[in-house]
Amino acid sequence: MTATEQQPATRAVHVSPPPVDARPISVPIYQAANFAFDDPDALAESMERPDGAFVYSRYGNPTIRALENALADLEGGVAGIATASGMGAINTVLLSMLNAGDHIIVQRCLYGGTYASMRDLTTRFGIELTFLPGKDPAEVAAAVRPNTRLLYLETVANPMTDVIDLPAFLAAGRQAGLTTVVDNTFATPLLCRPIELGADVVLHSATKYLGGHSDVIGGIIVLARERHYRPTWHYATELGACADPFAAWLTIRGLQTLPLRIRQQCANARVLADRLAAHPAVASVRWPGRADHPDHEVATRHLADYGAIISFDLAGGREAGYALGKQVRLAQLAGSLGGVETTVMHPASTSHRQLDQEALAAAGIGAGTVRLSVGIEDAGDLWADLEQALAA
Ligand SMILES: *Cc1c(COP(=O)(O)O)cnc(C)c1O
Repeated sequence: MTATEQQPATRAVHVSPPPVDARPISVPIYQAANFAFDDPDALAESMERPDGAFVYSRYGNPTIRALENALADLEGGVAGIATASGMGAINTVLLSMLNAGDHIIVQRCLYGGTYASMRDLTTRFGIELTFLPGKDPAEVAAAVRPNTRLLYLETVANPMTDVIDLPAFLAAGRQAGLTTVVDNTFATPLLCRPIELGADVVLHSATKYLGGHSDVIGGIIVLARERHYRPTWHYATELGACADPFAAWLTIRGLQTLPLRIRQQCANARVLADRLAAHPAVASVRWPGRADHPDHEVATRHLADYGAIISFDLAGGREAGYALGKQVRLAQLAGSLGGVETTVMHPASTSHRQLDQEALAAAGIGAGTVRLSVGIEDAGDLWADLEQALAA
């Protein structure tokens, strides 16, 4: 039966894409859940492997693959797995690589969601967790147990911008036979490539700098070892933590301007960090690019620039930190970071509000600490806004 013999109710359903003999300069959105095959064996085979033909978009999709390949290339890994969010990436890695009774070693200061996931793993699935007490790589060897599997690190930690000696920690992890995982969200592959420093797995919240426009939630895992690719992909498909083609497309679109944004954001951060440090209402400033940052030397060794997150302590303490969010006009009070627009947050009254004074201090966060995510706006305009907010 040819198409013209079919009834309109049939022809209306079977709209096909035209045969494409064209090379679009941008990556098209393959908004397709399902892909057709001629051969049942080829269909079955593709369902079993991450690098087979596209079969179902929870397993793989051309737009999503373009993002995965781009990040694998930028990070120097063998493959990428895009996920629905940064937390999707983190939980895919943890759940695919850990079994009940395993032990993981993590750095002291972690993204809050990561901390919550790890806590759940310990209470519900018998995973054992050790927080490294400080920044000495020798602490890794001291924490290792027979059941230790993973060492989990962040390139630049939130919100106090701590930078650990990543190559030394990764070497310590490798020496102990651990799989090393680095959350590289704050640095992006333009400022740091942990795989080149020895990491086995790198992951990102693409919601932040990779997407960069506060309009998409996404995550990505990049694997340095071929042997980790299939099991991690397999677990991602089981969890259903997969990316969506449109979200992947937005992330690709963001990625294309990442170098320009990062350059501008780091340059703006330098201006604002120095001006904040000179302001009488500011007790102290933490930005890894300043010589007075405790990790300045370490950051200089393995970061190409110092990032665009600044935290500063207001002399006026909790009230002053709380009030600043109400006084800013150009910068916006918001929980997330990494976008083209500048945002401020007061951790003690928002992201870390459950912590009492003692717990805040243990995390290194002051009652008057403000976190500033510096955008790409004009630095003079940003300073004028902060200055009026600090004066108020
Ligand atoms: C935001 C963030 C995450 C979580 O990412 P989502 O996309 O919000 O799920 C993980 N790690 C770091 C460092 C983050 O900043």
